[in-house]
Parts: sequence; structure tokens; C-alpha cells
Amino acid sequence: MRLHDHGKAWVHGFDWNECQNSLKSTVMQLGDAREGLARQAKLIADCYSSLESIFDRLCHESCINCDDICCARATVWYDIRDLVYLLLATGELPQHQIYRKKDGCCCHLATTGCRLLRCNRPFICTWYVCSRQKMKQALIPDINWKAVAERIAMIKEMRKQLVIQYDTAVATTTHKEDI
Ligand code: SF4
Ligand code: SF4
Repeated sequence: MRLHDHGKAWVHGFDWNECQNSLKSTVMQLGDAREGLARQAKLIADCYSSLESIFDRLCHESCINCDDICCARATVWYDIRDLVYLLLATGELPQHQIYRKKDGCCCHLATTGCRLLRCNRPFICTWYVCSRQKMKQALIPDINWKAVAERIAMIKEMRKQLVIQYDTAVATTTHKEDI
């Protein structure tokens, strides 16, 4: 399954299980290329983890008293880059797509915040820094926020490269099977 073979619908739709199975079986068939891709995905996971305590502090300053909690109203979802990264980094995929509960809150929102480790959230949950958080960054001067922004940009580029290389590996595997 190459990534451009799929429109947006499947990440939202009723065929979540089918697409999970398809993605998993494709990755299994990648042979030697799988290891290299998995190493890259784990580097991305390490980058996410390096941001965990930083964003915990920022959330402590900004989210606890927020009167318009974004996770209670935003619609987010795992996109294909999230899924390829997660599958290669962990060998697993989320059991279900993110959804909003009846009250509008994200299914992973708990009273203490997000239940998921940062490296298991959709990337948007990391790169999105709201205006309140941007203001609060000034209250934590010991963190180099420019470097944090650069780290996020680096993750974005690494994710992009990962799916490009995943697609190349799938195309190569498919080509070999056709010969
Ligand atoms: S990220 Fe911003 S909008 Fe979302 S809960 Fe925190 S302070 Fe509120
Ligand atoms: S996955 Fe977590 S961080 Fe992302 S919207 Fe849901 S509760 Fe918020």
C-alpha cells in the first residue's frame, strides 16, 4: 500500500481496520528496508520524547487555568504520516482513530490532560502552540524556545522523509514482485 493510493477518507472512515491491516501487511513485506525505516521512526520518537518534559512545563503554566481547552473542542486525527511513524517505531497502530465524545471532547482527554504519551499523539498535538502558550513561554526563560521550535521543524521534516522513503521501499518491493 503506497501512501498516495489513499485519500483522506480512510483515516476517518469505517474502514479503519481494513486500512490498519493493509498498512501492517505492507510493512511486513518490506524486508531489509523495514529495519532502516524503523530506525528512522525511532529517532523521531526520541525527538518527541525530548520535548515531553518541556511541554509538560508549558502546559502546567498555561493549560491548567485555561478556560477554552482546545482538546475539548478541536477535531484532530491521525494522518498517514502519524500512522506510518507509529507502526514503524512501535510495531503497533492505535486501536481506533481519534474521535470526539458526545460532549465534544477528544476521546483521549482526561481530567489531568491527555492520556497519551506525546510520541503516541497525532503530530498536530505537538506542533500546535496556542497564543496563550506563546505568551507563557516568557515565564520559562531557562528553556530555549527557538531551539524547541527548530526541533519541531526537524520532526516535521523527518516525518516527511520517512513517508517518502516508505513509499520508495514499497514501490521497490512491488517492482521486485512484478519481475
Ligand atoms: S494549549 Fe492553549 S488552548 Fe489548549 S488548553 Fe492549553 S492553553 Fe488552552
Ligand atoms: S490526543 Fe491528547 S493532546 Fe491531542 S487533542 Fe486529544 S487529548 Fe488533546
